[in-house]
Amino acid sequence: MRLAQRMCRLGTETAFDCLRRAKALECKMEVVHLEIGEPDFDTPKHIREAAKRALDQGFTHYGPSPGLPELRETIAEYAAKLRGVKFTPEQVVVTPGAKPIMSFAIMALVEPGDEVIYPNPGFPIYESMIEFMGAKAVPIRLRMENNFRLDTEELAALVNPRTKMIIINSPQNPTGGVLTREDLRQIAEVALKHDVWVLADEIYSEIIYDARFESIAQFPKIHPRLIILDGFSKTFAMTGWRLGYGIMPTALAEKLARIETNINSCTATFIQIAGSAALKGPRDEVDRMVAEFRRRRDFIVEGLNKLPGFRCLKPAGAFYAFPNIEGTGMDCEVLANRLLEEAGVAVLAGTCFGKFGDGYLRFSYANSIENIAKALAKAEKLLKK
Ligand code: PMP
Repeated sequence: MRLAQRMCRLGTETAFDCLRRAKALECKMEVVHLEIGEPDFDTPKHIREAAKRALDQGFTHYGPSPGLPELRETIAEYAAKLRGVKFTPEQVVVTPGAKPIMSFAIMALVEPGDEVIYPNPGFPIYESMIEFMGAKAVPIRLRMENNFRLDTEELAALVNPRTKMIIINSPQNPTGGVLTREDLRQIAEVALKHDVWVLADEIYSEIIYDARFESIAQFPKIHPRLIILDGFSKTFAMTGWRLGYGIMPTALAEKLARIETNINSCTATFIQIAGSAALKGPRDEVDRMVAEFRRRRDFIVEGLNKLPGFRCLKPAGAFYAFPNIEGTGMDCEVLANRLLEEAGVAVLAGTCFGKFGDGYLRFSYANSIENIAKALAKAEKLLKK
């Protein structure tokens, strides 16, 4: 088979490979799953009920490519309130999951040969999609010493006339790092000075523990160059529903809607109705989930710091712990493999998130305290062997 040249530049999200391997091992041994980034809670009942009603009401047909007007309006209002700014429904593009916003934004704005700066360690799809489109992926290193926040001076030094876009992600996957308001102000300043777009991945905007969520959208001057990515997967435990959105200047939203027409036609309409119900409905289940994530975070971080050779910060958001494991003397990929195959603990090597993830492991704590305790005990046994 002779594939198109671009296929050799397409990366992947190894979490799915790890999940497959871990599932295959399950017929031989018990495996605790701390590899995949999805809430273990069920989608709240009122959202499920709204989807069922929508199916019975006939929301089983195509809808407009940028999303149902009602949902775009609800998103504009909800997202604006969360960030303390103003958005219009015309700025919103609804997609099947938030992930397509990454590739659609790059397709619409970045030429082959342009540069895109992205966080590393970071969500692997950024690097994959930048390279796939023929652009150059320029990593900005996130360091534990800086609480996994990017260094804005380093960012300024990476920008050059070929830079078209900067991708930021806060709260961050895989580190749980959160950018401060001052970081965001400086990022906006750099982007404006060099006329560079900012893609702000805010999918974990509501899974945050110690500080208030700050968005780069709070700096209005950046709005003409800003794309916000957010969605329903994490906040409302709706990963399998595939529902997300981007908020951007209206003229760009029209272009992304055209890409949506070409690729998906539209997002499933009954799912969009359920999305409206999620945004308009009661908050108690979301609050409960975040409170439970906080309890697990405190528990896992304490446990990880007791493991020989592990050093772990307390993540400020998302649901991942990202300990440095260099003290074990083991390579992170070797240790991730041994944890899976010898101890039945599925976690990801830091290098699944880029080269600067070397020396780290990612533990997703979207699992029960009982299972986290079991995983920690199994890991301890392996490390003390
Ligand atoms: N951005 C980040 C940082 C993520 O971790 C994820 C999901 N793992 C996404 C985007 C994609 O979200 P969705 O499932 O809505 O496509």
